[in-house]
Amino acid sequence: MTARRLDGKQLAQTMQAEIAEETAKLLHHGIRPGLAAVLVGDNPASQIYVRNKRRACDKAGIASFLHELPAGTSEAELLELIDRLNADPAVHGILVQLPLPKHIDESTIVDAVSPLKDVDGFGPHSLGLLAAGRPRFLACTPHGVLQLLVRNDIPLAGAHVVVVGRSNIVGKPLALILMQKGIDATVTVCHSRSRDLTALTRSADVVVAALGRAHFLRADTIRPGAVVVDVGINRLPDGSLVGDVDFEPVSEVASAITPVPGGVGPMTITMLLYNTLQAARLSRKTRQSS
Ligand code: NAP
Repeated sequence: MTARRLDGKQLAQTMQAEIAEETAKLLHHGIRPGLAAVLVGDNPASQIYVRNKRRACDKAGIASFLHELPAGTSEAELLELIDRLNADPAVHGILVQLPLPKHIDESTIVDAVSPLKDVDGFGPHSLGLLAAGRPRFLACTPHGVLQLLVRNDIPLAGAHVVVVGRSNIVGKPLALILMQKGIDATVTVCHSRSRDLTALTRSADVVVAALGRAHFLRADTIRPGAVVVDVGINRLPDGSLVGDVDFEPVSEVASAITPVPGGVGPMTITMLLYNTLQAARLSRKTRQSS
């Protein structure tokens, strides 16, 4: 079997065009969705991520505001900026690029972002609403995974999905999303302490690898015909980027698979734009009802 490739690059283009259309409609009502990106320090990877996110905003007609702060910025100074952005009506979404320098507590900063502007979907309010079955902003990477599956007609209702990884930004919210009423997957979440991981992954209709270990999922850990989603991004010593899945051999066993790069990655940025548009719509509703 040679697996169908689930093309995130293509889907991201399609969805970003849809988002641009919706953004243009909102502009007719006098609202331009705006995203504030906060970058602390000079981590080169973070600089690239922020640049790509801003470029995607521009293409979709979303305003982006960059706040670059030196690595020595104190937690109090960063909180002061977040407060200002929370109060700024031109800013609908706030993105604080992680990781932050060690002397700043990430949870304190994530918690300080207004729940109405939490377009990363990491905040406790967003996660709490999702857990309560009333989602507002879905975390971008898990939402991207969902869109890749749904828009490629991968059946999820009643399917057994095994998620490898339980981080707050990928594994945990993805499990909550997939078990929502209406999506109706049966979800198993695995982590580094899970016993007999291979038996678990081999029992899955859909396996999502989100652990950050190059080529971890091999062909013999997948049931023939399973769908495989690779969230991992790992840089090899030769500089190349690979996922958590051993792509070529697993492609011979799976029925569908996402590549790295060009799979989940482009979808993450797309869902950030989607959330920013949603946040702008939300601000309009809030304005109308006050
Ligand atoms: P993380 O916070 O390091 O979490 C990794 C998870 O994998 C943890 O829950 C860990 O278990 C589990 N794990 C580690 N080794 C394992 C093993 N041998 N067996 C089973 N589980 C194991 O990572 P993350 O932030 O979720 O990111 C995961 C990967 O996705 C990384 O490669 C990251 O670069 C990538 N990523 C990609 C995107 C994208 O846009 N495509 C976005 C975000 C992240 P414990 O909890 O027990 O430690």
